[in-house]
Amino acid sequence: MEQDNLITHLTVRYTLVLGMLAVLAAGMYVIGVNQRQLNDHSSELINISGRQRMLSQRAALLSQNLATEQDQSKRDALRRDLQKIIETMGAAHQRLLAEGPGSMHPKGLSAELRQIYFGGEESLDMRVRQYLTGAQNLIDAADAQPELVDRLLWDILAQARNGKLLAGLDSAVDQQQIESEANLKRLKTQQQLGLVLTLLILGYSFWSIFRPMTRRLRMELIALHEIQQDLEKRVEENTREVRRLASAIQASAESIIITDQRAKIEFANAACQRLNGYRMEELVGENARIFQSGRTLRAIYNELWDAIQAKKIWSGEMINQRKDGTHYDTHLTIAPILDAQDDIDGFVGIQSDISKIKEYERQLQAANQDLERLVVTDSLTQLANRRRFDEVLSLEWRRCWRDGAELSLIMIDIDHFKKYNDSYGHQQGDVCLKRVADAIKSVLQRAGDVAARYGGEEFAVLLPEADINGAREIAELIRTEVMSLGIHAAPEVQNEHVTVSLGIATIRPDSSHAGQDELVARADAALYRAKNEGRNRVCA
Ligand code: GH3
Ligand code: MG
Ligand code: MG
Repeated sequence: MEQDNLITHLTVRYTLVLGMLAVLAAGMYVIGVNQRQLNDHSSELINISGRQRMLSQRAALLSQNLATEQDQSKRDALRRDLQKIIETMGAAHQRLLAEGPGSMHPKGLSAELRQIYFGGEESLDMRVRQYLTGAQNLIDAADAQPELVDRLLWDILAQARNGKLLAGLDSAVDQQQIESEANLKRLKTQQQLGLVLTLLILGYSFWSIFRPMTRRLRMELIALHEIQQDLEKRVEENTREVRRLASAIQASAESIIITDQRAKIEFANAACQRLNGYRMEELVGENARIFQSGRTLRAIYNELWDAIQAKKIWSGEMINQRKDGTHYDTHLTIAPILDAQDDIDGFVGIQSDISKIKEYERQLQAANQDLERLVVTDSLTQLANRRRFDEVLSLEWRRCWRDGAELSLIMIDIDHFKKYNDSYGHQQGDVCLKRVADAIKSVLQRAGDVAARYGGEEFAVLLPEADINGAREIAELIRTEVMSLGIHAAPEVQNEHVTVSLGIATIRPDSSHAGQDELVARADAALYRAKNEGRNRVCA
């Protein structure tokens, strides 16, 4: 706004100054033209007056010759010459005096010149006319009476000689010279005045136009200088900030790369070079694809690109490949870098080597699996323990109920084991338990069959989808298998080798939970019967 006001103000001043200069130039031009005209006029007037002077002398001479010449042809020639002079003088005189268009006097004669030319009886105009009339009369009367000729000649010579005509002409020239000098002086004064005025206008234009302009320019220069200093300061601060960030990125333990929007690598920090085995110059210009091992699912890359193209940050795990071809697990975070227009300018990727963590995870998983197995396994016999047996019973119960299948259970108890322990000791008893367990396991063929140590020296075998006959067959096999182990029984026992008694129960499971307990109870009851009926047998 202020700027606009200043420009309007300066434009008005500028136009004013230009106008003044134009008026002045026009004035100076008019003065110059006037001066030239006056000069021309005065020099012509002086010329004509000088010529009139010369012509009047010559006319006097010719008149004298004409008056005295006797030869007729010479007289005629003299008359013609004189006639010509009279006409020339007359025409010049007319021209000199005539006023108005075509006159030599643009402004007319001055009062003084008018007095000289027309001032009464003795005026120059009168004298010229008389002189010319006299000369004309002499021509006309030349051949007539000699007395008239003499008188006329005397008049002419008197006029020419006593100088009244010449004195008139001289005073006209003098006056003209005075006037023209005065004119010149006036014009010179006007010119000086014009010069002073020009200087004044130029001075005014300097004060009113250039001074505000230069003042304004100086102020703007100062403002620009301040802006420049401010910018320099900010650039310096930004540079320092950038340098600090760059050092932080370079020194970061995490691997960091910066790419353009097409994943072309522009920067890789020291950790990235170390992790991947490349030098900076080997990475710059390459596509980030260089790290792909081929062992990461395509879907992960797709998910990654979808996220970052949508200007979101993506984090996830993948398997990368080093320069030497070895692979490593990595956790990668990729964030888009947005420019001032919020468009993607590139990406920054932060990558950490999680191979060790992955290895620990794998070890932990294995340990967990071991632990889980231990929790459900009997340590002595390596069969499923009672807890596992309860779980499996519950699972199989529901499965068989769903499938409408039968579920069989064999309960096994070693005969006279107390006596065995008493005879051979507890350790030997454990060995015996282990061998019996192996024998039971060796009989089971189907994947779904489960053998468990039910407690003490009692075992349970769960046979899903097995009917009573199938179960009896398995039970019989177990009994003979144990006996064929040939483990020496306690001396006071009737049988030579260690034997087992087995009780079988088969049930078609239903929705009732109590059914499971009933299955166990029935198998237990069958086992009790087998013991009562003399041991080493199978009861259902
Ligand atoms: P029965 O023929 O009636 O079964 O007579 P039994 O002596 O085997 O009687 P019972 O089944 O009640 O025997 C239990 C004995 O099993 C008691 C204990 O000494 C022995 N026993 C239980 N658990 C273990 C064990 O883990 N190791 C050893 N060595 N012996 C055990
Ligand atoms: Mg027992
Ligand atoms: Mg027993």
